[in-house]
Amino acid sequence: MRKETIAISSGRPAHQPGASLNPPIQLTSTFRAGTEVGYGRFGNETWAATEEAISQLENAKHTLIFSSGMAAISAVFNMLPVGAVVTASNQGYNGSMSVLRQAHEMGRLEVRFIDLCNTDEVLAAIPGTQLLWLESPTNPRLDVVDLPVVIKAAKDAGIGVAVDNTFATALNQNPLDMGADIVMHSVTKFFAGHSDVLMGSLSTNDEALFGRLSVQRQIGGAIVGPTEAWLALRGIRTFPIRVKACSESALELAKRLSSHPKVEIVRYPGLPTDSQHARAKSFMRGYGAVLSFEIKGDAATAEKVCEAAKLITHATSLGGVESLWERRRRWASESHEVPENLIRLSVGLENVEDLWDDIQQALDVI
Ligand code: PLP
Repeated sequence: MRKETIAISSGRPAHQPGASLNPPIQLTSTFRAGTEVGYGRFGNETWAATEEAISQLENAKHTLIFSSGMAAISAVFNMLPVGAVVTASNQGYNGSMSVLRQAHEMGRLEVRFIDLCNTDEVLAAIPGTQLLWLESPTNPRLDVVDLPVVIKAAKDAGIGVAVDNTFATALNQNPLDMGADIVMHSVTKFFAGHSDVLMGSLSTNDEALFGRLSVQRQIGGAIVGPTEAWLALRGIRTFPIRVKACSESALELAKRLSSHPKVEIVRYPGLPTDSQHARAKSFMRGYGAVLSFEIKGDAATAEKVCEAAKLITHATSLGGVESLWERRRRWASESHEVPENLIRLSVGLENVEDLWDDIQQALDVI
């Protein structure tokens, strides 16, 4: 089945007369003895429904949901032995970078931060690495990693590969099909899609890995509430349609911004003039709904633009039905590879002409 159909039909109770159409929100901390689950930290019917939907959308055998994207990321790194070598992006999502930097400083892991978009650099880093932590497109520079090439090289060398697929979404690429061991999502973003829930997920086809990650969730305790799991599943029902519509607007805005006199450069992998468009096109089915652009001016000027928006909300996060933007370097933890004047825009479902009017009036302020 196609993604739109999977999003609607997965994670439903068995087709029996009288069965509810939607899974129940199973509010219980414990279960009568005699079955496998036993306790609310080990499993829940509502989690299982959401996990089934994500598994099907990511072509995975198994998925585990966590209390946030960061909890899912931490579960992967916590599974590694002390001293393990991790290779990761030098300008990817700042939360992943912060947790890796901390593990490195504490001597728990040895982390190599490299330019993942430079394939030669990645290939050179593979010997000695135990886990390659990939993110593509990257947050917030929208750089594209040559996933099929680097995943194959890493697997040929026998090392673990995990991919943060939050920006691309399961609609546009499925890294497990390319050979990755783990796919991670901030479900908070496009899957849930309504800026009302925090959640993360890890999907895998590897039984042993699934077992080890399940233990990480059980003992780490970073579990999601059943109500949040239900909300995420409700968001997933419209996920493919939302991502398609938002991506169409993102491309249109990227094109218009590219010829705006106050904009230095626009980054969006779907833009035909983007330096990484050809690479993205070779394996992505679509390009997502986040773009970034650098304005002609400094940090203060970029802040002024963000604050001037009347329709777009000046806020962090992405992937919701409402458009948000922010200057990423306002966060101290952001990579210094990210320019001070870069604004990240998450395009929502508003009419694209209204969004463009708002962007134009905000740029007119400077
Ligand atoms: N990965 C990416 C690419 C993200 O953008 C984020 C959050 O912004 C995360 C992971 C972390 O997810 P969460 O905020 O759900 O913990």
